[in-house]
Amino acid sequence: MKIKFWGTRGSIPIPGINTLEFGGNTPCVQITDENGKALILDAGTGIRELGKQIISQNSLFKINLLVSHSHWDHIQGLPFFEPLYHKEYEINIYSYAHQGIEGFEIFEAQWHPLFFPVKKDVLKATIKYNAIVEDMKYNIGGFLVSTKKMNHSKGTLGFRIHSVKDIVYMTDNELIFDTESPFSMKNIFDKNKELVEFCRGCDYLIHDSMYSLKDNISKIGWGHSNNISVLQFAEIAEVKNLILFHYDPDYSDKDLNKLINESNNYIRHLNYKINCVASKEGLEITL
Ligand SMILES: [Zn+2]
Ligand SMILES: [Zn+2]
Repeated sequence: MKIKFWGTRGSIPIPGINTLEFGGNTPCVQITDENGKALILDAGTGIRELGKQIISQNSLFKINLLVSHSHWDHIQGLPFFEPLYHKEYEINIYSYAHQGIEGFEIFEAQWHPLFFPVKKDVLKATIKYNAIVEDMKYNIGGFLVSTKKMNHSKGTLGFRIHSVKDIVYMTDNELIFDTESPFSMKNIFDKNKELVEFCRGCDYLIHDSMYSLKDNISKIGWGHSNNISVLQFAEIAEVKNLILFHYDPDYSDKDLNKLINESNNYIRHLNYKINCVASKEGLEITL
């Protein structure tokens, strides 16, 4: 199996000389199994390059896209996803209702002339919308996928993909921690029990790691996590490999290297068993 990162940034795309190492595109992750079956997670701006690769390789005619939620950074790339413009492709979009509005209504709204210059009839692909809900198991394109509600805006889902290796994708999730004792693992467990069980024993956890602990303190309730809470959470859940993801757009490559060094020092200091990796745009991990 392979995990490829096409976009790793949270909130807004930030191209520029300060983000060349980790990338500036917003979330899009591709999971491919050994038979070539694939799932695409989120349609942030990173999906544009993935679409170009699919077209140039003349591949993946049936596409399965899971959208965690409809915040801009997770859907902004969709109108620029090239397979949509070719009749050979079938695109299945899976999403949860957001604030009472169904996913298909949100995606259809992206083609409104207020937001996009060309009419939707230029799309030649077959597009199918599928409503999914929390706490369910689905067979999507040959993958078994479990869903869980995240601690973020209403309608945000995390996914556990059960395959040769289990991969959990939890972008945009705020782990609850006690600001008075942020290093207490007991608190992390007590306050995030259901999510711990959702991730329990997985091989790879891709998790929101938007802030440093210091920066998180002034942003409680904003729907994102800090690296220290994520490390504690992953250790408690007996995750084998933790992949940090969905970085603050204000963090440069230098800031992120600092965050990752701090994370690995923390792991060493406490003798944690988890392996921690930083996602980067273009990074491909063979499982
Ligand atoms: Zn986001
Ligand atoms: Zn969000």
